[in-house]
Amino acid sequence: MALQLLSQKSLCRGTVGRGRRRVSCPSSGSPEMSADVETRVLVINTGGTIGMVLHDGVLSPEPNALVKTLRKLPILHDEQYAEKTKLYECFKPEDKTLVLPRSKLGKRVVYTFLEYCPLLDSSNMTPNDWTTIGKDIEKYYEQYDGFVVLHGTDTMAYTTSALSFMCENLGKPVILTGSQVPIFEMRTDGRDNLLGALLIAGQFVIPEVCLYFHHKLYRGNRVTKVDSGSFQAFASPNLPPLANAEIDININWDTVWRPSTTAKFTVYTQMNLNVGLLRLFPGITTDTIKAFLKAPMEGVILETYGSGNAPDNRADLLEEIRKATERGLIMINCTQCLRGTVTISYATGQALSKAGVVAGFDMTPEAALSKLSYVLAKQNCSTEEKKKMMSQNLRGEMVADLEGAKLSLSDSRFIQIIAKTLSIGCKEELEAIRDALMPSLACAAAKNGNIETLEAIREMGTNLNKADYDDRTPLHIAACEDHLNVVDYLLGKGATVFAKDRFGDTPLRNAIHLRHKEVVELLRNRGAHLSQDELQDTGTELCRLSASGDLEGLKIWKSAGVNMAMSGYNGKTPVEVARALGLKEVVDFLETA
Ligand code: ASP
Repeated sequence: MALQLLSQKSLCRGTVGRGRRRVSCPSSGSPEMSADVETRVLVINTGGTIGMVLHDGVLSPEPNALVKTLRKLPILHDEQYAEKTKLYECFKPEDKTLVLPRSKLGKRVVYTFLEYCPLLDSSNMTPNDWTTIGKDIEKYYEQYDGFVVLHGTDTMAYTTSALSFMCENLGKPVILTGSQVPIFEMRTDGRDNLLGALLIAGQFVIPEVCLYFHHKLYRGNRVTKVDSGSFQAFASPNLPPLANAEIDININWDTVWRPSTTAKFTVYTQMNLNVGLLRLFPGITTDTIKAFLKAPMEGVILETYGSGNAPDNRADLLEEIRKATERGLIMINCTQCLRGTVTISYATGQALSKAGVVAGFDMTPEAALSKLSYVLAKQNCSTEEKKKMMSQNLRGEMVADLEGAKLSLSDSRFIQIIAKTLSIGCKEELEAIRDALMPSLACAAAKNGNIETLEAIREMGTNLNKADYDDRTPLHIAACEDHLNVVDYLLGKGATVFAKDRFGDTPLRNAIHLRHKEVVELLRNRGAHLSQDELQDTGTELCRLSASGDLEGLKIWKSAGVNMAMSGYNGKTPVEVARALGLKEVVDFLETA
């Protein structure tokens, strides 16, 4: 269990502000005595290779060894500074606190160890250990600027993911690290990893649970262990690193996650343990699926092929999945691929969605599993609400699909936010922005069949007849997409059927070409007809359809009110073409058309 480290009494007397020391530092390298700003980091040592020692030929964690060794390493501890500034008098117990040499940014990272007992190989860790770490972070949250957690690499990606969800409204860095080779050995990655994690946790306010390894800082819920034999053990396939520690430490601030609330930090320690990962493989039996999904299982991450596919010719398998989701089991679709996202572009992916499986987009299985465990433990939430949480981005763990973008388009604050970003205040400039953006947004909404968004755009004062850069109106787009309800909505809101795009095409012409029969009929009922320009090569097109016996194509043109006796480029009419080729059915149709 955790050691009790600091009592209020043991905080340094004479400190400035909230327990912070400001000290004169003769060892800073400056010719004058200059003040070093100290920052404080709590290092929670849970175990892992970084602190292991060989016993009888196998590595196992060695209690109380790490701090003793670090104290002798000048890059990780400045003993002279510690003595001169009476560090040990201030931070008790004295054998647990160390201080880094002065950093390039002029800071001193003072770090205190909290060592767990027993120290664990991370393969032995369970959600109870995540809870212990979370509780300790909560307990010491106000006393430290940042937290470093030393952890074995084997299950580190699970712990970082879990902590990212458990830590609600986190405002300080929590950085997990470890190593592939024990820190006591000559060639080790442990010293670099610990130093990098300490420098970042002590100097940058990155309010995330992160993983630092081999010069890179990653978002904790985006990583996976990819190599057991290299110093570059982790990858973050779907998100670039939050920071690169090269000559300088460069933080990618645009990527850093920002909580959108000002609520107080808490750690949610309940996790539902009735969750599991089920990896599909060719030939998996229904009995296996059935056994896996049965009670007490409450949530399953289904690891599927490619972009989220499962066999759609296995009614037995899909039926078991459907029955399970109907019982209230939450199933999340994550890909077996290292990189990429789950979509429903294939029938095989759509089959799962129809069976009630929720898309996990680009979440890693580690993130998806711990998120599910966290979400399922939330009390007072219905199954539907929990499913919604699973498809929402809670901590930067995934990029959800266009659904999110659709919503933001219909958000009436959208334009205001853009205006604010561009520092635009006056009404005229605001209207100019609206006029520039809205036509494209309206076309995007028409493409998605999203009437709600179109209505929001119209309410903002945008004329739905406004065209995009290709002179295409939302009605053109809806007609192409066969969105009958959107066509109907737009016509009801005054959209003109006579708008022409840059190619001279009207929505009716688009609908004829794509053979959207009902859209053609609706447009015709509202007075649409082809323009003289559009009719120019219609005779040739009708002859082509006639020659190929394409009755369906001819019928669409007829329903658009076109004269079926128009002649083609060589003066022949469609019926003459059909007769010459002996196409009786076509001849019969055209004679009565
Ligand atoms: N088995 C070790 C652990 O996960 C491996 C490591 O730390 O790299 O604790």
